[in-house]
Amino acid sequence: MRFRKLLLPTLAASLTLFAQDDMARARRICAEAVGIDSHIDTIQHVLTDRVDLANRLPNGHVDFPRMREGGVKAPFFALWVPVYYKGAEAVRRTLDLRDAMQSVLDAHPDQIELATGAGDIERIVKSKKIAAFLAIEGGHQIDDDLAVLRMYYRMGIRAMTLTHFKNNNWADSSTDKPAHNGLTPFGKEVVREMNRLGMLVDVSHVSDKTFYDAVAVSTKPVILSHSSSRALSDIPRNVTDDMLRALAKNGGVIGINFGEGFISQKDVAALHAAITSNASAPPDMVGKILDDYAAKEYRADLAAMKAGLATVPDVADHVDHIVKIAGIDHVGIGSDFDGITSPPKGLEDISKMPALVAVLLKRGYSEQDVKKILGGNYLRVIREVTGR
Ligand SMILES: [Zn+2]
Repeated sequence: MRFRKLLLPTLAASLTLFAQDDMARARRICAEAVGIDSHIDTIQHVLTDRVDLANRLPNGHVDFPRMREGGVKAPFFALWVPVYYKGAEAVRRTLDLRDAMQSVLDAHPDQIELATGAGDIERIVKSKKIAAFLAIEGGHQIDDDLAVLRMYYRMGIRAMTLTHFKNNNWADSSTDKPAHNGLTPFGKEVVREMNRLGMLVDVSHVSDKTFYDAVAVSTKPVILSHSSSRALSDIPRNVTDDMLRALAKNGGVIGINFGEGFISQKDVAALHAAITSNASAPPDMVGKILDDYAAKEYRADLAAMKAGLATVPDVADHVDHIVKIAGIDHVGIGSDFDGITSPPKGLEDISKMPALVAVLLKRGYSEQDVKKILGGNYLRVIREVTGR
C-alpha cells in the first residue's frame, strides 16, 4: 500500500510533465517551421467589417496575434468570391478583395508583406513578418478570359482554385451535377496558361473528373489547398485514395481542411448548409445590393462560428491516412479558417496549431516530418511552380 501511494502521484506527475513537454516542443517546432496554411478566408472578414488584423479580434479565427501564437507565418489569403457573383460582377468582387488585401499590406508594412515565390516567403518569414501569398477561389472569377487571369497574376496572385461550389463554364465542381465531363478544352487552356505564368493550379472543390483532367494537363505539381480524406469522411469535397496516389505521382500537396464535415461525418450537416447558402442568392442582384447580401451571409457565418464535434486526434487521423497513401512529402495544412463555421474542438482558431503538432509528436512523427507538414512541402511546390 505504501508503495502504491508513492507511485501513483509520481506517475501522474510525470505524465503531466510529459504532456507539458509535448506542448512545449510543439510550440517550439511551430515557431521554427515556415508555417504555411494553404487556405484562410480572412480577407472576407476584412472586406466585410474592415477589421484591423493587427488587433486580437473577438470573432473569426485569424488575426496577426493569433497567427504568431500558432506559428502560421505564410498563409494563402483566399480572395474568395461566392458563385452568386456572376460574370463581370465576379471580377469586380475580386478587385474589391484584392483592394482589401492591399489595405492590410499598406497599413502594416512592418508586420506583413506580399510574397510571390518561395524565396519571398523565406525572406519575409526570416524578417519576422507575415508573408501573404494570394490565391483566388473560383475559376468564375476570370469571367472566361485569360487576359483577366494574367492581370490577376500581375496583381501578385499566385494560385487559383478552378471551381467553387458550382460548375463554371469550363470546369465541373464536386458539389454540382456534371456538365462538362471535367475540364472543357478552354479549361485545359486555363491550366496551361497558369503553368506558363507560374500560378499554382488548385484542385480543391473540383469534381473527381476535373481533378484527373487537371493532373493530366498540368506540367507542374498541383495543390489541393483545403480538402481532406474521403476514406475517413465521405463527402465530395474530400479526395479518394486513388486521387491521393495521383497527387503524389504529380508531386503536389494536399492541405488538410479542418472544417465541418471534412474531418468527421458527424459535422456534415453544417457543410451542406454552407454549400446551399454560398451557392445561391436571389437572382438579378448586382452592385451594392449584392455586396450587402454577401456581407449579411458572411456575418451570419461569423456569428455561427463555434467548435464542432470533430477533435484534434480526428485531424491527426487524416494526416496519418494521407501519409500512408501519398507519403509524408505530399501533406500540408489548409485549415479554411474564417471560411468554416465549425472547426474541431481544441483547434478553434489559428493560434491552436501547436495542439495538433503535439498529437503528431505523440504519434511518433519526427520534427523533420512535422516541419514538412507545416510548410516545407508547400515551399517545394511553390518554388517549382513559380520558378522562384
Ligand atoms: Zn473553399
